[in-house]
Amino acid sequence: MQTVRLRACLAAILSFLLITAIAPCGCSSEPSAPVSAGAPATRASTLSSASAIAPADVAPPPSKTGGFDGAAAYDFTAKLVSFGPRPPASEAIERTQDYIDSQLQSFGCRVDRDAFNAQTPIGTLAMKNIVAKIAGTGQGIILLMTHYDTKRIENFVGAEDSGSSTGLMLEMARLLCARPPQPNSVWIAFLDGEETQATFQWSDSDSVYGSRELAARMAVSGDLKKIKAVILADMVGQKNLHILRDSSSPKWLTDLIWRTAAQLGYQDVFKSGETSTSDDHVPFQRRGVPAIDLIDLNDYMAEGYWHTPEDTMDKISPRSLAIVGHVILESVAELQKRP
Ligand SMILES: [Zn+2]
Repeated sequence: MQTVRLRACLAAILSFLLITAIAPCGCSSEPSAPVSAGAPATRASTLSSASAIAPADVAPPPSKTGGFDGAAAYDFTAKLVSFGPRPPASEAIERTQDYIDSQLQSFGCRVDRDAFNAQTPIGTLAMKNIVAKIAGTGQGIILLMTHYDTKRIENFVGAEDSGSSTGLMLEMARLLCARPPQPNSVWIAFLDGEETQATFQWSDSDSVYGSRELAARMAVSGDLKKIKAVILADMVGQKNLHILRDSSSPKWLTDLIWRTAAQLGYQDVFKSGETSTSDDHVPFQRRGVPAIDLIDLNDYMAEGYWHTPEDTMDKISPRSLAIVGHVILESVAELQKRP
């Protein structure tokens, strides 16, 4: 009897061990929508790929980052990367556009789409900007931006370069679209065509197609003059992230963001040094709009995987996404207080 019961017990223990052994790798490469925040203290991502996240890169709980969920932003980034290389007018970018659009709608955001044809050195390319518009009680507009296209390089999936900032802005939309109206509207623009199409090297004439289109459209509609500030995020998910002050942006705007970062205790990420990058904020600056670029290009290039197939999810830190998301969220709140 005993042995029978013992055998039954052993069998039960064995099957229990087996189940728990299999569960963590769940092996769904397709990330589901991020689970709600109520998980234990520090929430690791739900994805199998996240099992490799070092403790130092685990995102703080959303309760510690103003409600911004770094692990969710990581999950969005991984989903975007799972579409593969996403250059303009590719099949993969259409799937990316559908994903961004459906996520924004699922957050209850009002979504505007602007499909346009870009004249590029490799011919006319169909592109699309997707803008989530969170209405405010007043006339002003705070414009947040990211590009979601990847550079036209074989096997380049752009986890850091376009994936990270787009994952961050999806999480930003999830949060802000659910909040009551503030004095200024907040627009979150997902831009196409940031990368050069014909050459590896950057060129002002063959780049930033989406932001040029958006700036021109807003000039025609009269919305351009309503912009209080533009905050662009690009390459903001890497480990050991260091963001330098953008010397091309107005000092009051850089000071506001760096003061906010310091008050939140992120001086190790938002550094006092200066840099200047040609990026999607330039078409707005050229039209006299206060615009800033939050970017870590230096480390990204120094690490050697800039614009290479090695720009993959193992380079992404949910903690970095949480920190930049938290700073942008609180900076928007500061901008909302400005007369
Ligand atoms: Zn790039």
